[in-house]
Amino acid sequence: MPRWGMVIDLAKCTACQACVVACQTENNVPCVEPEQAARGRIISWLTLQPELAGTYPRLAQRLLPLPCLHCDSPPCIRVCPVGATGITPEGIVRQTFARCIGCRYCTNACPYTRRMFNWYQPEFPGELKQALNPDVSVRPVGVVEKCTLCHHRLLRAREETRAENRPLAEGDYVPACVEICPANAMYFGDLDDPDSRVAELARSPRAFKYLEELGTEPKVIYLAEGEWAGGEEQQQR
Ligand code: SF4
Repeated sequence: MPRWGMVIDLAKCTACQACVVACQTENNVPCVEPEQAARGRIISWLTLQPELAGTYPRLAQRLLPLPCLHCDSPPCIRVCPVGATGITPEGIVRQTFARCIGCRYCTNACPYTRRMFNWYQPEFPGELKQALNPDVSVRPVGVVEKCTLCHHRLLRAREETRAENRPLAEGDYVPACVEICPANAMYFGDLDDPDSRVAELARSPRAFKYLEELGTEPKVIYLAEGEWAGGEEQQQR
C-alpha cells in the first residue's frame, strides 16, 4: 500500500504562488473580503510561510510553500471530539466535513496552522459558480477545512487505471499544486517505494522536515537551498 508524500525543493521554488492559486481553484476554496482578511480569516489551504534559516548572526528569510503536512503522528486528529478527522491507510489526513461541528480544537492543535475555519457561508458570484470543481464539495459556514492532497484526484486515477486494467503508476495521481508548479519544484508519490522519485529525494542530505522536533512526522519534506543545505539549518517560526 502506498504512503503518499511530497518533496518541495526550495532551491527551485521561486515563490510565484502558482501552487496557491491552483489549490484555491481545484478545491473550491472561497475568497474572503479584505476586512475579514485583515482579521486573519483568510482561507487558503496552501500558503507561503516566511521563516528564518540559519543561526544567528547568519540568518536569512525564506518562504516555504506550506500545505497540510499530512503528519504520520498528527495532533489535530487526537483532539477532535467527534471523529471528523482521521488518517487513511495511505497516510492522507482526511477531513469529513459533514461530521465537523466547528469546535476548532484541531485548528489549535495543528502547530503549522494548516486548518482553516469557515466564518461565513461561502459565496461564488456569477460565472465563478460555473467554475466550481464538481468533484469537490463546497464547505458550509462553521466547518474546518484543510488540504486533502486532492484526494478526489486519487479516486479518479483509481477509476481510470481500473478501466485500463493496470495498477496505479507513478504520475497517475498528482495534486493540483504539484501539477501546476512552473519550476518543477514539487514532487509527489509513494514515500514507501524506494524506487520512486520522492523517496529518492527524501533521502537527500538536503532533506529536512519542518519543525521536526515536535514529533509530528510530516510527510511533506523540504530540500534546503544554497548555503543552508546539508542538514545544518535550524528552522524558527
Ligand atoms: Fe494535522 Fe496540521 Fe499535521 Fe495537517 S499539518 S496533519 S492539520 S497537525
